[in-house]
Amino acid sequence: MLAAFPRMGHIDILLGDLLDRLGIDYLLPPVNSEKTLVLGAKYAPEFSCLPLKLNIGNFIEALELGADTLIMAGGRGPCRFGYYAEIERRILKDAGYDFNMITIEPPSLGFFKFVGPIKKVSGKSIRKIWRALKESFPKARAFDQLEKLVLKTRCYEIKTGATTKAYKKALDVLSKISGPKEVDGYLEEALALVEGVEKNLDRSVLKVGIIGEFFILLDPFANLDIEEWLGIRNVYLERSVYVTDWIGPTANNPVGGVSDTHLAKLAENYLSHFVGGEGLASVGHTIHYANQGFDGIIHLFPFTCMPETIAKTILPSVGRDLDIPIIHFTIDEQTGKAGVATRLEAFLDLLWSRKRQNEKKRLVKSRQLV
Ligand code: SF4
Repeated sequence: MLAAFPRMGHIDILLGDLLDRLGIDYLLPPVNSEKTLVLGAKYAPEFSCLPLKLNIGNFIEALELGADTLIMAGGRGPCRFGYYAEIERRILKDAGYDFNMITIEPPSLGFFKFVGPIKKVSGKSIRKIWRALKESFPKARAFDQLEKLVLKTRCYEIKTGATTKAYKKALDVLSKISGPKEVDGYLEEALALVEGVEKNLDRSVLKVGIIGEFFILLDPFANLDIEEWLGIRNVYLERSVYVTDWIGPTANNPVGGVSDTHLAKLAENYLSHFVGGEGLASVGHTIHYANQGFDGIIHLFPFTCMPETIAKTILPSVGRDLDIPIIHFTIDEQTGKAGVATRLEAFLDLLWSRKRQNEKKRLVKSRQLV
């Protein structure tokens, strides 16, 4: 058996480590690319969302490299993600590929639906699977913590590209982690590399929250590397989703720092129930960032994404009520980097102009008080 799973940001760190611990042979499909997307878009229904197209492209690339077992996550709706594994299985079978599909349901659908397929494919006891999960998770969480620091650092770097360079070195450091006991030491070393980037902390920066659908937020190819583009243009970033927060069973979101319960509470005057994916969280995060004094919000989601389309209809009211500008980007295989960059440049101009006006108002007010 040679297994493969789809790409999504650095989820391969968590899944690869887990499969190694469980003794499952696997191959990593190439990172998401134009080729992956073209392959996926060729076989996927036109109106399916971008993650499905990239998953299919990943699986085709993996099958052509020799994989015979595809591992895919299940879901509990109400968005289409819950049907992905079965749809992908049928599309690939119709295209003539021969393989087994293993669907791992989320723990919220029942512990045995989650662990049963892993047991079947690995032949390991539940106790051993549980131990492997507990050992793999802290390593992946360290990568998330590093990524979070990079988003906050790049806007202050003196030499353009210095943060990205330090980040790459830090990734090498984290890849040496072989067990949970080593996480703290290597994480400290990796964070120190990024913290050591020469910075100008007096520089005026824009504070922007990036919210939206999990796949687009987590995968740099899918989001057109928007975070690096913004960071080198003096934008301090916070992102609403991290891999281990998204996949973690507790919903406490330790990396992002805002629990799902808190987000739902924040959003309740606008949206009072779960709508699938990150729809509710996108509304909650917008309010959270507005309350923290952020200058603007960037909302990213795939074309035809149901939960984020709901959020998009609500967010203009949130933006008006809390006086925070929001820009929306709907992404599919037709989206071009240049078009996104042009709209982002205009958005940043607007945010700078508002920031300057607000600073002037504050100055006038403080003089009046004197
Ligand atoms: S959240 Fe949206 S884009 Fe993601 S799987 Fe669901 S419908 Fe598709």
